[in-house]
Amino acid sequence: MDKRFKKESSYDDKTPNKYRKESKKVCAFCAEKNEAIDYKNVSKLRKYMTEKGKIIPRRTTGVCAKHQRELTSAIKRARVMALLPYRTI
Ligand SMILES: [Zn+2]
Repeated sequence: MDKRFKKESSYDDKTPNKYRKESKKVCAFCAEKNEAIDYKNVSKLRKYMTEKGKIIPRRTTGVCAKHQRELTSAIKRARVMALLPYRTI
């Protein structure tokens, strides 16, 4: 019983394991400072969308809160202008 408990507790540990990639993500928009997020730049916006057309959360892309806000509004603007899809079947 004691052994099993020890094994389970190791799963909950916050220590980095070999299955998880431990790399510090840097916001791509902060890195290139003078580049503004434009709704007409479709190829760039597509990087932050899934194949089905959903916006990827910033916890996976590593974009900072400020730029994620600008990104979502740019994507939504592009959708209204029919440059990007709301969804793909
Ligand atoms: Zn940023």
